[in-house]
Amino acid sequence: MKVLVISDIHANLSALNAVLDHAPAVDAVWCLGDIVGYGPDPNECVETIRELPNLVSLRGNHDGAVCGLVEKSKFNYSAQEVLLWTEDQLKPNNRSYLASLPAKTTESGVTLAHGSPRRPVWEYIMDSHAAEVNFTHFETDYCLVGHSHFPVLYLQREGKKQVEASYLGPNEKRNLLRKTIVNPGSVGQPRDHDHRAAYALLDTDENLWSQYRISYDVHAVQQRMRDAGLPENYIQRIESGW
Ligand code: ZN
Repeated sequence: MKVLVISDIHANLSALNAVLDHAPAVDAVWCLGDIVGYGPDPNECVETIRELPNLVSLRGNHDGAVCGLVEKSKFNYSAQEVLLWTEDQLKPNNRSYLASLPAKTTESGVTLAHGSPRRPVWEYIMDSHAAEVNFTHFETDYCLVGHSHFPVLYLQREGKKQVEASYLGPNEKRNLLRKTIVNPGSVGQPRDHDHRAAYALLDTDENLWSQYRISYDVHAVQQRMRDAGLPENYIQRIESGW
């Protein structure tokens, strides 16, 4: 089965559309959460994702915050500002869609979690140590996560405790071995100093992971953010990729 793996769209419709235009035909789409927050197009992004065929979709911390399932006070001031704006914009049916999503699930023998299998809503897996403690929190061979906005693969070889971490550059292909935790990076707000939208394809028959980066019109998104009065730091951030 060929799967399009996306995460952390963050209400950036231009980035999402660039990914969907670039990706080949797939059998399923797995979205690892945070469809909204930070960006100017929350309804459009939720509606685009909801219509994707054979979709498995998770709820991220920002998605949870706009439907009252996560406290907004846990976010910094400017993130809260965007969450309040997003809450105001969201159509009721899009909000209830986000509220209905799980933060963690198992699909076709793969664990999917927004942050981590241990704490799916909030934990960031930013280094080998954080990955190591999470390897005991899933039973499947692989676990896919988002949340850090950083395309990376953590491998724990059989019988070893130590974890190897590797950054996934554009067009890199990796054979997923057991056990692996892998992150496709962020569609709408990458944080690895490359502003292009990140996504991955997973071939579950070949256990093959392919990483991609796609350019999109960042300035058009920045303009929509300015028009909506969203915070300047997030407007800058999508252009610098950090
Ligand atoms: Zn995110």
